[in-house]
Amino acid sequence: MTDMFVHHKETIVPVNVGTPDARFGQFLLEQFGGATGELTAALQYWVQSFHVTNPGIRDMLQDIAMEEFSHLEMVGKLIVQHTAKLNQTAVYDAPLFQMKGVGPHLVDSQGSAWTGTYVQEGGNVVRDLRANIASEAGARQTYEALINRCTDEGTKHALVHLLTREITHARMFMKALDSMGKLDDPFFGTIQPDDTVDIVFNLSHGDDHRGPWNEAPFQYVENPQPKGDIPPSPINPDDEKASPAGSR
Ligand code: MN
Ligand code: MN
Repeated sequence: MTDMFVHHKETIVPVNVGTPDARFGQFLLEQFGGATGELTAALQYWVQSFHVTNPGIRDMLQDIAMEEFSHLEMVGKLIVQHTAKLNQTAVYDAPLFQMKGVGPHLVDSQGSAWTGTYVQEGGNVVRDLRANIASEAGARQTYEALINRCTDEGTKHALVHLLTREITHARMFMKALDSMGKLDDPFFGTIQPDDTVDIVFNLSHGDDHRGPWNEAPFQYVENPQPKGDIPPSPINPDDEKASPAGSR
């Protein structure tokens, strides 16, 4: 058996647009080539999985990465259907598609090109899983914005499924962190923190509030005072006050 990808053309839920709306198609690009979109999610979990040593978490990341690729396909198929009547759409309703042609394209709803800087990954499984919870929150929120602006029932049905799956993924990432004891323990890595680790500084004065984020076991410092001296003055050989070489 060789490494391989197998693609099934059937989608997990129907992807049928009733009334094409090129303007809504442009909004949908946010989840195709946008920061919170499915390409970002698919590549993020896929790339992360390569450096994860825990076989269970690696398998989870690869399962979810494949699902995100299927989401990319679903969003792309929604966009192509929404742009199918482009020549009957006023140019100002969908300028992006009028210029670039029927979608999808790897840009966001404002036409900005997709970039790898959207992808959060960084060599440590705890760091990655925490980033993934934030990514799922972003994706879920974008789907909510899309669903709130969606008037086509077929589109809405698919989008609610996509929103639902992002909630499931967030739960999976939380459970995975919990299985490592890292869901509510912010410490990870090998370098021990310094003695300020349990201290909370009140640095915005007025209308101060107390809560679990600054109560015991945290030590709350009402009026923090500097404990370091003033750092040494800079020594800059190019400073205009220094004597030029060879003068006087
Ligand atoms: Mn997704
Ligand atoms: Mn997801």
